[in-house]
Amino acid sequence: MTRPKFKRILLKLSGEALMGQGQFGIDTETVAGLAAEIAAARSAGFEVCLVVGGGNIFRGMAGAAKGMDRAQADYMGMLATVMNALAMQNALEQLGVETRVQSAIKMDQVCEPVIRRRAERHLAKGRVVIFAAGTGSPYFTTDTGAALRAAEMKCDALFKGTSVDGVYTADPKKVSGATRYENIGFDRVLADDLKIMDAAAVALCRDNNIPIVVFNIRQPGNLTDVLAGRGKATIVKN
Ligand code: UDP
Repeated sequence: MTRPKFKRILLKLSGEALMGQGQFGIDTETVAGLAAEIAAARSAGFEVCLVVGGGNIFRGMAGAAKGMDRAQADYMGMLATVMNALAMQNALEQLGVETRVQSAIKMDQVCEPVIRRRAERHLAKGRVVIFAAGTGSPYFTTDTGAALRAAEMKCDALFKGTSVDGVYTADPKKVSGATRYENIGFDRVLADDLKIMDAAAVALCRDNNIPIVVFNIRQPGNLTDVLAGRGKATIVKN
């Protein structure tokens, strides 16, 4: 089956993707590798928006589990995503890729606020726009933030970079006969609670008809391969 063609994508990376082999924080070599993947996608002519999570530094739920006020902990989580966004910006610019960070929580000294029309201008000029601080509201995740920005920026697809090359009938690490779906419906993902992204994010993509492309970001060259319709992936669509 031929894959749809994409021009503008939103790439969602979890904070954990930035950790490398570590258990916490930012591994500069790993971040440089991710930046190289994005730079290659840019060079191939794709417009790239980026959303990074914060789970490698702080998750609101983890703070709440230890007795913190949930909203307070979530704001800390959102600040963690800004640190990751700045790390990605640094790595991309070291490769000569122009970028702008736009944060959903205003931070004038550090980055721009989220302004859709300005983000459009950046993309038109070939810049990668990194959206930080998720939705700017507690009780959400950066998955939902990614779906929201993908809709707002009229992205052709949301690329969810993971450590597996798509959605499988069962966990391929545990079940030897598990096979990968080439395509799967949003409703199936929601009904079977396949944990690709959180349900709010999946529903937002479904309602706005934005396919989610689940692929392995850890494999060098894979992002451009999937964009070119070659690499392994699962496309979640209506
Ligand atoms: N967060 C939030 N609102 C948002 C996005 C994120 O409150 O719109 C907080 C939340 O506490 C979350 C943390 O930021 O745990 C880090 O984001 P997330 O867990 O989505 O990161 P990822 O799992 O992708 O690394």
